[in-house]
Amino acid sequence: MKLVIATKNRGKVVEIRSMLGLAVLKNVEVATLVEMPPVGDPRETGKNFEENARIKALHYAQALKVLCVADDSGLSVEALGGMPGVRSARYAGAGASDEQNNAHLLHELSKHPRPWRAAFVCVAVAALPGRVVAQATGTVQGEILPSARGREGFGYDPLFLVASFGKTMAELPMETKNKISHRGEAMRKLVAEMKNAGVLSG
Ligand code: IMP
Repeated sequence: MKLVIATKNRGKVVEIRSMLGLAVLKNVEVATLVEMPPVGDPRETGKNFEENARIKALHYAQALKVLCVADDSGLSVEALGGMPGVRSARYAGAGASDEQNNAHLLHELSKHPRPWRAAFVCVAVAALPGRVVAQATGTVQGEILPSARGREGFGYDPLFLVASFGKTMAELPMETKNKISHRGEAMRKLVAEMKNAGVLSG
């Protein structure tokens, strides 16, 4: 059977592909949206990560008629009342680059005393046409640093300090990030749920 990783975010594709590979899914061909016939993107109108993840998984499953896994994820900063949250990808405006979003985050945080406690949150959803078959959440706690460190990962990784390693997410190899990250936790739980639900074998 086929499973499509339903995201156009290259950073997410690399991580999710590696995670699903480690899950040793027998008889499952993992593809990404770029390998599928082109379909339009859904509008992410949800109020929270869960609603957006469900919108994306259901939209692509319906359009492609195949099992789709989507995630909605982002950064939640305590001093900013949970922002940027579902606006993480466009915190500095529509189409903003990771660098612009990071700069905007530091600008907003400069009005608040350190430490700047934060968490990455990920909700992963698996859907077949017309129905959600599994859903799981993962989180990782950390702290936002005043300047970027490291070149791995994507998004806010260079600013996100993981206390137990004394390193930012962008200083950790992908294998290590995947073991401790919000997305890693959500995907491991999602694969277990899909197996329980009989959607995946292996
Ligand atoms: P989404 O594609 O709407 O789920 O937006 C996700 C956004 O949240 C990304 O564009 C990043 O800005 C941020 N984000 C989510 N996961 C991560 C991560 O693992 N590292 C760094 N930033 C992340």
